[in-house]
Amino acid sequence: MINRHIVLRERPEGRPTAHSFELKTTPLPEGPVDGVLRRTIYLSLDPYMRGRMSDAESYATPVSVGQTMVGHTISRVIASSNPAFAPGDIVSGYDGWQDYGLSNGSTLRKIAPSRLPLPAYLSVLGMPGMTAYVGLIDIGQPKNGETVVVSAASGAVGSVVGQIAKIKGCRAVGIAGSREKCEYVERQLGFDVCVDYKSPTFRDDLAAACPDGIDIYFENVGGDVFKAVVRKLNVGARIPLCGLIADYNETELPKGPNLRFLLVKRAMIRGFIVSEHADRQPAFLRDVGAWVAEGRIKHREDIVDGLEHAPTALLRLFDGHNFGKLVVRVSAENA
Ligand code: NDP
Repeated sequence: MINRHIVLRERPEGRPTAHSFELKTTPLPEGPVDGVLRRTIYLSLDPYMRGRMSDAESYATPVSVGQTMVGHTISRVIASSNPAFAPGDIVSGYDGWQDYGLSNGSTLRKIAPSRLPLPAYLSVLGMPGMTAYVGLIDIGQPKNGETVVVSAASGAVGSVVGQIAKIKGCRAVGIAGSREKCEYVERQLGFDVCVDYKSPTFRDDLAAACPDGIDIYFENVGGDVFKAVVRKLNVGARIPLCGLIADYNETELPKGPNLRFLLVKRAMIRGFIVSEHADRQPAFLRDVGAWVAEGRIKHREDIVDGLEHAPTALLRLFDGHNFGKLVVRVSAENA
């Protein structure tokens, strides 16, 4: 059997291109399997992957040039010498951009059959959903009646943030990059309002959307959006600093927002990395699992067919051309 895998060809300067990656093939070992061999069904594509392509100092080790790109996966076990796994089991793991994964299985998690589509385990019930949960509940600490603003609101993290805010009795205000996305955020996800940051009237629209100011700003993008939001912060506002995607492809340090507003309003800003909050996973799966099952949290996956399309699909995150959690279908679910 041949394993196709996509490696980092070179470290990009600025925005990555398809040339930053290379598709390689390697034969899988013949004979009885030592460990758990699985076939990738879905591969998650996420903004953090841009960081892994760079050797700038970060909280995680970068992917080396020539190494297979990393990423969360949903796979089907096809052979196993580990008694905890049997052929046919569906597992979530971190196998990266490749057709097959092989390991002793210690980091795999079995996914019990459910009514949920498999990509949801990379999305609302996966790392992005958990990011929303930890960031909003533990760091944002929402209280009934408060106003919660979230950027990249139609995306994997932002969509869950606003919906949990509603469940907690808050006013949920989204910020997104098109009228179509804003309509989805308002009508399908049930946010109170969503404003388009590409509109010339963005600042006024944001002010109108937040008549009582902003108590929590869940930061996903940075840049000009952040500059507009900090002007509307209330005393004691909290900012879970989750991501700054507007900066990820910049080659020079961006001019920062005016941090004076944070100081004057005694606002708290706190960066966090979801992987350091593993102790919250049982609570996350219990609460968000129940909210999804009850239909109180909606989710949307944007599925691209074919591992070979992963390099160009990743770039959609930086154009806003993904709409919902971006996932690659590497093989058929029922193959
Ligand atoms: P999304 O599904 O939201 O996709 C990315 C979206 O970002 C795009 O669709 C686009 O939406 C928006 N975007 C891209 N470029 C810009 C820009 N220049 N200015 C404003 N918006 C932009 O991604 P995720 O939900 O997976 O991730 C959202 C954020 O959360 C990212 O910053 C990511 O790094 C961060 N994150 C952090 C984690 C942590 O542990 N701290 C864990 C997981 C994610 P639009 O069309 O609306 O502009």
